[in-house]
Amino acid sequence: MNKDFVLKIEHSSKHFDAVKVFEGLSLRLNANEIVAILGPSGCGKSTLLRCIVGLEKADSGTILIAHQRGTESIGYLFQNPILYPHLNTAGNIALGFSERLTKQEKKNRIEQELISVELGGFETRAVESLSGGEAQRVALVRALLGDPKVLLLDEPFSALDLETRRSLAVQTRQWLKQRSIASIHVTHDPEEAELIADRVITWDSMIAVNEEE
Ligand code: ADP
Ligand code: MG
Repeated sequence: MNKDFVLKIEHSSKHFDAVKVFEGLSLRLNANEIVAILGPSGCGKSTLLRCIVGLEKADSGTILIAHQRGTESIGYLFQNPILYPHLNTAGNIALGFSERLTKQEKKNRIEQELISVELGGFETRAVESLSGGEAQRVALVRALLGDPKVLLLDEPFSALDLETRRSLAVQTRQWLKQRSIASIHVTHDPEEAELIADRVITWDSMIAVNEEE
């Protein structure tokens, strides 16, 4: 198995004052691969994602991003979607564009993307009027438009009911695969992990794996 990696973490550790969050953590994410990380609340999943994207600095070890654009090629979807209330749905999505496009090209692209997440015609909807699942899909479209190489998903569906959560996991897998985006999906729900990922790993195994060298 000699696949190209998009992200490689080796022997990484992180603490906050006296609290050790993780130590000797290793993880490899291959191109186009979706990995789900399963771990209980408080084990350090969000801290790890924040270290990957550069919102926190790991104490030691290496975090390699195999792409010229570095952390710019990493998208991040938070647990609670962050949408700007002074912009409508289309306006929020437009913030995600990484390419230079004309106004008409943007309009067409937003229209197509909304249809692809089953929100066709939602352009002018106020974001406050969206349900949790709709708002999360809008945030997801915005993240996908940034054309990331890697998308970090931090329990993005955990606030939603079981049925919505599982169907969004299946759909998100399709959207990632269609666009050849690798992803780390963090969750505490084993079934959600199985639905979205090519490979499910437990938090503890990332720490044990590096003992092998
Ligand atoms: P998870 O996402 O797996 O629920 P977190 O990464 O949010 O876990 O938190 C891991 C541990 O680090 C927890 O004990 C949490 O209290 C602690 N922690 C997280 N962020 C900070 C911070 N900024 N300062 C101090 N402790 C923190
Ligand atoms: Mg968390």
